[in-house]
Amino acid sequence: MTSLQKRPARRGAVLRREAVAATIPVAVAALLAAAGPASAGTGAAGPTAPAGSAGSAGAGDPYFPLAGNGGYHVSHYGLTLAYDPKTGHLDGTAVLTARATQRLTRFDLDLRGLKVTGVTVDHRKAAHRRDGQELVVTPRTALRKGHEFRVTVTYNGTPGPVTDPDGSLDGWIPTDDGAFVAGEPQGAMTWFPANNHPQDKSSYDFTITVPAGHTAVANGVLRGQRTAHGRTTYRWRQSEPMAAYLATATVGKFKVEQYTTRDGVKVYNAVDPREAAKAAPVLKELPSVLEWESRLFGPYPYRAAGAVVDHAPQVGYALETQTRPLYDSAPALSTLVHESAHQWFGDSVSLTRWKDIWLNEGFATYAEWLYDEQHGGPSAQNAFDTLYARPADDRLWAYPAGDPGSGAAIFGTPVYARGAMVLHELRKAVGDRTFLRILRTWASEHRYGHGTTAQFTALAERQSGKDLKSLFHTWLLTKGKPDKA
Ligand SMILES: [Zn+2]
Repeated sequence: MTSLQKRPARRGAVLRREAVAATIPVAVAALLAAAGPASAGTGAAGPTAPAGSAGSAGAGDPYFPLAGNGGYHVSHYGLTLAYDPKTGHLDGTAVLTARATQRLTRFDLDLRGLKVTGVTVDHRKAAHRRDGQELVVTPRTALRKGHEFRVTVTYNGTPGPVTDPDGSLDGWIPTDDGAFVAGEPQGAMTWFPANNHPQDKSSYDFTITVPAGHTAVANGVLRGQRTAHGRTTYRWRQSEPMAAYLATATVGKFKVEQYTTRDGVKVYNAVDPREAAKAAPVLKELPSVLEWESRLFGPYPYRAAGAVVDHAPQVGYALETQTRPLYDSAPALSTLVHESAHQWFGDSVSLTRWKDIWLNEGFATYAEWLYDEQHGGPSAQNAFDTLYARPADDRLWAYPAGDPGSGAAIFGTPVYARGAMVLHELRKAVGDRTFLRILRTWASEHRYGHGTTAQFTALAERQSGKDLKSLFHTWLLTKGKPDKA
């Protein structure tokens, strides 16, 4: 995510177009050639579950205690939605394919607002009740551990956003011509029943019907669109695993552009005409940004890419929705670089708890620094020095990137800026070659899975052969302005 209000100070304004064409320095190119092949992805840590036979109401994340649920994994969501931008009414049917990780007499889904009109489990009617953001489902008979089951929820109503602890809105955010749908960290539950924590990743199929003239954009590959009786239905498929917060079903009046990159990635851009002139030169760089990031971080993780550039001034941020980042207005090139880097760091490699958010934001911010450095802009050292010059009472030093303290602080300046500073200190300590090998190995070893801060610091020590405990302690985990090493 990047936020205008919460974004750390950037070095200069939008990069000039002409700076972007610069080639990757020779040393980096050699390093890229030397990088090893991707290894198999690692499995996810499962949601924690109590010993009893009811699935827990949360995934065990202290920052958002009710987010996610225990007792099952969802492998697939099939979401069929119809949205009317005029009335704001949403009709939904969600079909979840899940596997019980314990015996289950009942389990929870996360769903906020909206009216549930029916729930079935394995095609049999199931009892259900609402308890705040929890939809509590009691199947007719207990599900045995290991059983794969199918939950169908029909629902409707007028969705709206949730206000996060930091005061920002996420979820289903109505716009003047549709809805801007961005779910980090909590908002997926505003438009579909979910196991709403990044611990659980799933594939998705979306079937979204909107009035003709509107476009509905979700994640992954467009499988088809059909107009009949004044309504258009869009079918999207996200095959690679995705956390619920990265799902979107953004609706608006968009200009659409589709093409396939040299690497065979299918690009779908949807742009609000009011943002089109400003967005065009930035979107044009998307293939070269993805190519550059692929050379640094390893193969792009998805078969689809693109952007949704909306006109949604009430939102105030951009989000790395999987395969297709969402922008509330025409983005700066640095923002495009940031959200694209998240496709590796945050989307393909997911968090297991929100406390580790620097693994997303510090990495995406550092990608911006690297991009500037290698495209004729200021060096990463320059970016670091500018931040380090801030006085000791600056909010930059208010808390450490690796321990924000609460869900209200996960998108604060220290997470982004200090998160990037940690990586810069690491780079200086291990050298460019080893540093980039660490990033690549991180992306490949945890591809489509999860990673924790402890796993990252262990990887950095393993790859470099150095004891980095004091570096991480000082730069990642200690409050206040560190003495310069
Ligand atoms: Zn971000």
